Amino acid sequence: MGLTDIRDRIAKAEDDAGRAPGSVQLIAVSKVQPDERVETVLEQGHRLFGENKVQEAQGKWPGFKERFDGVDVHLIGPLQTNKARAAMELFSAIHSVDRPKLANTIARLAQEMGSCPDLFIQVNTGEEDQKAGILPADADAFIAEARGLDLPVKGLMCIPPVEETPSLHFALLAKIAKRNGLEGLSMGMSSDFEEAIALGATHVRVGSAIFGERDYS
Ligand SMILES: *Cc1c(COP(=O)(O)O)cnc(C)c1O
Repeated sequence: MGLTDIRDRIAKAEDDAGRAPGSVQLIAVSKVQPDERVETVLEQGHRLFGENKVQEAQGKWPGFKERFDGVDVHLIGPLQTNKARAAMELFSAIHSVDRPKLANTIARLAQEMGSCPDLFIQVNTGEEDQKAGILPADADAFIAEARGLDLPVKGLMCIPPVEETPSLHFALLAKIAKRNGLEGLSMGMSSDFEEAIALGATHVRVGSAIFGERDYS
């Protein structure tokens, strides 16, 4: 547990998979964590973080960004269109682009603002009703649509169903990315990031294994 341990395990997983050192980016998922824990990780030199709610991130990150140089925060949770502008101002990447309405809103705002975060399209690989993401069967068309809007689509993201073998979902995501010529693969969390790296993850999203359990009480 902890940042150093996770970094070591990522380096080993890269090596085991025959991948270049540093080819996987570690997104430290700081949602719900107390500021002291986040600060500890910042003081250890880590600069890339993930949040799943716009409002929570707005409360937390402007202050840290003033105190620490080079901080990057990625949005990894669902995004409502009415929060898209705030998200585009705060995050350097959005991993949860999952429907045409949101893609259209981001495209319009990107025109207006003259910039756009890196985008990942979330795929609902487990076809779960309660989960966000475009269905695998609709992914190719949606990727083409987003590219048609000139959006900077860097890759795909998935969150496998808890009760299923994650590797099957990682492999499916990698396959969809490959046939669409996308390099980014945002996949793998505390319990399965090594498997994700073996299957090509470029971004792993690790929370509790770095910071400890989240306390929702
Ligand atoms: C919370 C969260 C994570 C991190 O989960 P851990 O199991 O704590 O590593 C990763 N991805 C998303 C989308 C999340 O919401």
